[in-house]
Amino acid sequence: MAKFSIDLKTGSLAQSPNEIIVGIDLGTTNSLVAYVNEGVPVAVRDQKNKLTLVPSIVHFDEHGDVSVGQEAHKSLVSDPDNTIYSVKRLMGKSYNDLKSVDGHFGYQILDDGTENLVKINVRGKFYTPIELSALILKSLKSNAEAELERTISKAVITVPAYFNDAQRQATRDAGKLAGLDVLRIINEPTAASLAYGLGAADAQTIAVYDLGGGTFDISILQIQDGIFEVLSTNGDTFLGGDDFDRALVEHWISTYDLSENPEYQSKSALQALRLLAEKAKKQLSSNDFFEEQFQGNLFQVSKADFENLIAPFIIRTINCCKQALTDAKMTIADIQHIVMVGGSTRVPFVKMKVGEFFGKPVHDSLDPDEVVALGAAIQADVLAGNQKDVLLLDITPLSLGIETVGGLMDTIIPRNTKVPAKVGRQYTTSVDGQKNLKIAVYQGERDLVEHNRKLGEFILRGIPPMPAGLPKIEVHFIINADGIMKVKAKELRSGLEQAIEIKPTYGISEEEMAIMLLDSIKNAQSDMGVRALLEARNEANHILHSIEKFVAQHQDLLSEQELADTLQLQAELKTATAGTDKDKINQAIHSLNEYTAPMAHRAMDKVVLEAMKGQKV
Ligand code: AMP
Repeated sequence: MAKFSIDLKTGSLAQSPNEIIVGIDLGTTNSLVAYVNEGVPVAVRDQKNKLTLVPSIVHFDEHGDVSVGQEAHKSLVSDPDNTIYSVKRLMGKSYNDLKSVDGHFGYQILDDGTENLVKINVRGKFYTPIELSALILKSLKSNAEAELERTISKAVITVPAYFNDAQRQATRDAGKLAGLDVLRIINEPTAASLAYGLGAADAQTIAVYDLGGGTFDISILQIQDGIFEVLSTNGDTFLGGDDFDRALVEHWISTYDLSENPEYQSKSALQALRLLAEKAKKQLSSNDFFEEQFQGNLFQVSKADFENLIAPFIIRTINCCKQALTDAKMTIADIQHIVMVGGSTRVPFVKMKVGEFFGKPVHDSLDPDEVVALGAAIQADVLAGNQKDVLLLDITPLSLGIETVGGLMDTIIPRNTKVPAKVGRQYTTSVDGQKNLKIAVYQGERDLVEHNRKLGEFILRGIPPMPAGLPKIEVHFIINADGIMKVKAKELRSGLEQAIEIKPTYGISEEEMAIMLLDSIKNAQSDMGVRALLEARNEANHILHSIEKFVAQHQDLLSEQELADTLQLQAELKTATAGTDKDKINQAIHSLNEYTAPMAHRAMDKVVLEAMKGQKV
């Protein structure tokens, strides 16, 4: 295992003495980039808007031009269909993961009914959350470059403590696509604690209360010898300042009897009223009363009334805190520090109630919107080698993964993961009755395994015959402290197991590793395109296979017209799949799925009906 750092422009391994690595808080509502300037972490300003916070919003206009941040925010009201917000909620998620919350988004999420990662349809083009997040990161990168007057190529990015592997990997990929070498992904509560300097002292237990625009997280952390451990997390992915705004809008609608008023029926009028409510809320953080003329009406609210409106939401956050303490096997008395994060902790009532619950004053001296990015900047400064007294643990210098369908690299252990490490992931077969599965292990950052370095392979033989998708094959990568990696594959239904041992750093020099890394960043855009095309093809083949099976089984349920239309749509999807336009393939998948969904429901109803008649179990 190596500790190394490279200069992306020269490919050299030498450390430039005043290198700047930025820290990025890629948030649901707002994002922010920060760096350490002469030992002090500072947030970067957007050169155009002079604000540090960049709304995590992307807008696509009719000419295909993209705007990000404050500019895109304006389009929320005027062009909601093509304005993408809250993309962080979609990171590493499939449509099936999001089914229950689909209605929450103003834009269109592609419903392919599968476990594949979601795509968003904007003006007939399909974007992944990774591509959308990369646009936000690019904008942050260019703000930092403008302020610092130099190229920025390395970053530390924060994610919520509860993010799983897929979500963390998606965040890394977004960084790479934005032209950034992501040195570390760190947890947001860890970053916030670092910003308050809580990493330095002896063992401590900290509660990080993070109430943003749309999400609430409470994390209980323990710090020992400079190492942060997340003891528990809790929260609510749909609870935050947006709820305060909504409660105020509802209060006004009922107080001023607006529900029948024609002026307040459209999506954009309601959006404008929501923005007025947000303005009122922000003013009430420092005033006792708000009033403003809006579309011919006088809108008013007092601080006391506002506090009554939001009290139920605060109680919900406190209940989450109680649960997090229980899960961490801690009591209120064990918590030494409470750190406030997120724009909604500016509401004095929130701070007061949280302080009351924990029985101590909360840490709120830093800007709650900046605290995570400032902490990320401190971590980045440590990685840049500017804080000599901090020990860096050994890490994996390149990502490790396996080959999946179509020659794609599926990273299991990302680069810069601390060792020892153990990560597992489940796979399945792609062909009915498949008996053998090849596990080919690769090292590198590129999306196609052909561009990475092969470390070894083995075949898991004798999988009992099952339909495609049914076997559960768990692949584990285990790296010990000496850097020896064991790769194990186990079919869970039969217990069949096989393994190999590899030393990933054997036979590769640091220069070669640096070149591999540079290549991955240079080729991120084209690699992403190839990956998206291959994934769309894989998905198309999977859907064509299921629909062929469905038609063969349920022909009696389909009219002649339906059969003919389905065949036609299948043929169109096959033609699209033979081509190289991923948007055409996705569009054809969408059309076929939409057309056949009612038939699938009919078939399901029939099965249920038969079961109820007792004919079939
Ligand atoms: P975040 O997701 O952490 O960026 O937090 C954004 C949320 O903080 C939004 O709901 C904002 O309306 C809210 N917010 C920002 N400033 C204030 C303020 N001064 N008072 C109350 N809420 C605020």
